[in-house]
Formats: sequence, structure tokens, C-alpha cells
Amino acid sequence: MTTGRVLVLNCGSSSIKYQLVDVADGVALAKGLAERIGEPDGHLHHQGTDGEVVRDDPIPDHVSGMRAILASFEEAGPDLSRSDLSAVGHRVVHGGERFTNPTLIDDGVVDAVDDLATLAPLHNPANATGIRVARKVLPDLPHVAVFDTAFHHTLPLHASTYAVPPAWRADYGVRRYGFHGTSVAHVSREACRLLGREVDDCNLIVLHLGNGASATAIAGGRSIDTSMGLTPLEGLVMGTRSGDVDPAVIAYLQRVADLSAQDVDDQLNRDSGLLGLAGANDIREVNRRADAGSRDARLALDVYCYRLRKYVGAYYAALGRVDAIVFTAGIGENDAEVRARSLARLERLGVVIDPARNASSRRDARSISPDGADVAVLVVPTNEELEIARQALEVARA
Ligand code: ADP
Repeated sequence: MTTGRVLVLNCGSSSIKYQLVDVADGVALAKGLAERIGEPDGHLHHQGTDGEVVRDDPIPDHVSGMRAILASFEEAGPDLSRSDLSAVGHRVVHGGERFTNPTLIDDGVVDAVDDLATLAPLHNPANATGIRVARKVLPDLPHVAVFDTAFHHTLPLHASTYAVPPAWRADYGVRRYGFHGTSVAHVSREACRLLGREVDDCNLIVLHLGNGASATAIAGGRSIDTSMGLTPLEGLVMGTRSGDVDPAVIAYLQRVADLSAQDVDDQLNRDSGLLGLAGANDIREVNRRADAGSRDARLALDVYCYRLRKYVGAYYAALGRVDAIVFTAGIGENDAEVRARSLARLERLGVVIDPARNASSRRDARSISPDGADVAVLVVPTNEELEIARQALEVARA
């Protein structure tokens, strides 16, 4: 088994999330978050081996954020210089067509991550900044980029191709890329372990239901279809994203509501999904409102679960044979009602949920279908940081 420790960084436009992961046992030795970078009310929280650091000082930029994080390691442990660090693993959202595997970072790779900002304007520039800063403050370690899109590089052309004009595809990279790949890779491996089967021999539908949400069809360890497309907007209903809509909505609203294309894009990404339907993006709040009688909240849950069912049906057809349907991330791991509703009345497809198992408050990877069911239904906690650490270590050691 691979052993080593990796500092995993997930850098956003105003935040740096991090974990120090021991790959052998999958344990996070320390974790934390520097947030509201560049704003007057910066905040840092570090949970180390010797205690916690909480600081409410302005963090002017990402360099100061990284320095504050390193200072927290010195203050509350563990001592990074004695932690036997093997690599720094960076989460990068978009790898485009170029990055199909985790990649050892050099200057060219950082520039390429920046160039992919055309495809992921909210994420890639921040990811590139994080990489530049981390290489500056930790220059002696190998840095590895792990891409959210990479797991889906196996999509067959018939699944990744949009039926659009040739110039859009050839000149502008308009195709389905898929996201959440790091989570899906981890969860699908764990699911096969739970089923006691080789990865090559397993067909799965993985439903990653967090703030962002996606469905992925996996045949023998390879992603063969996924619901997110050119960007993470397509597919399932999400916290604030619409998922699938008729693309003509954009031109229609430009015409009748005097919105710019950018306005519509922003509103589809930030004001839609559960938030747009129920006024709350956190599904626990939507559930509370539905229980209190809100029709909007009930409709939001109906739309959410119905969209899930449609994707399960579509991916069942795409795979032909399904060994397991796997729920993961905040909603998938915790919301028994969403799991039950989205898979209700699929007995004819061999999909059955055991109500008692589904209602259990167990937190580990588990089956919620009856023993011997044709299609196992599993709940598997995701761990993107561990997966990034694993992949980074492999590349650093190669
Ligand atoms: P992210 O995509 O930001 O990583 P998460 O995987 O943390 O998101 O998922 C966030 C979603 O999970 C939110 O909608 C939240 O309501 C939901 N969630 C978290 N905990 C629970 C819970 N105990 N019960 C139901 N939903 C939960």
C-alpha cells in the first residue's frame, strides 16, 4: 500500500481549504480554512494535532492566506517540517481536453490551468493562483494538480459530443467534460469494495448530491456518461443551479426581460435550483419548509427527485446492466427521503430500498437495499481530499 503524507489544497477566489492527509490510513491529521480573503473580515480556522487556531484578521491576498496557514501549523501542529510531507495536491476544477490524469506541476502546467479559465472562469484562475502561491511558499515539494474533469476522459464520443455546429466543437471546445470526478473515483472504488467485486467487473450509477449535483454512469471503472457538461450547470437540480433547461431560455429572456446573456447565466448558476424554487438552497431548510406546508418547497423536492429518477432511468439504459446505485455527498449521504423518493417504484428494474436500512443513522459505507437485491443501493461517504492525496502521491512517487 502507498504510504505518505500530502497537503491537499483547494483554492477558491476568496478562500483556501486544506487538509494534511495520511494516505496509508486515510486520516486527516490537520484541516482548516482561510476565508474571505481580500475582504475586511478575513477568517482562519485550523484544527491541528495540538489544538485549534481561530483568527479573525484581514487576509489581504492568497500569499498572506498561505503564510497564515503555515503559521497555524507551527502554532497548533503538526510541524510540517517533521511531517514527512511527500507532496502538495491541488484540486483543479477544469482540465479541458489536455489534462486527463493527475499531473506534476511545472510553470507550463500552471499557465495551462490559467488558460482554461475560458471554460471555468469562476474556478480555474483561483486554482492557478493557489498553485503559484503554494509553490512559492513550499518550493521543495512536488506539486500535483488533480482535475475534477479527468475521471470523465473516458466518455465515449457519442456521450461527450453535443449536436452543435462544427466550429463550436473544433474551435471552442464545446463538448461535455463532466465534473465531480475525484469524488466519483473515490466512491466508485469504495462501492466495488463493498460489493466484493473487481472494479473492472462493476457497472454503477453514482449520484453525487451536494451543493452541486451530478449523476455518472460507470462501466467497469470507466465513466461512460455524466450529467454535467461543458460547465457544472447541466443535469440535476442543485442548490442554486438549474440543471437542465431549454438553452433557448437564454435568448428568450434577453428578448422579453431585457437581461444580458451574462445576467441569465449568473441567475441560472446562482439564483436557480432549490433556491429558485423554494427560497433556500440548503435541503434541510427546504425539508423544514415543506413539512410546514410550503407548496414551493414541496414542488422543489418533487422536481429534485423527479430529475434524479430520469437520470437513473437514462443511465440504466446506457449501461444495460447495473450492479449498484450509489448515493454520496451531503444530500446523498444524509437525506433518506430523497433516496427513497428518487428510486421509488423501480422494482421492475430490480431497484428496491429497504426502509429500515435507509433510515439508519449509520455514517459508514453501507447497503440500503435488501440482501440479494438485483441492484444494490449503496450509501458511500465521499472523501475528495483523500482521493486527491492518493493521486498526488502516486504521481509524486512515479
Ligand atoms: P459541497 O458540494 O459544497 O461539498 P456538501 O456535499 O457538503 O456540499 O452538501 C451540501 C448539501 O448537503 C446541502 O444541501 C445540505 O443541506 C445537505 N446536507 C448536509 N447535511 C445534511 C443532513 N444531515 N441531512 C440532510 N441534508 C444534509
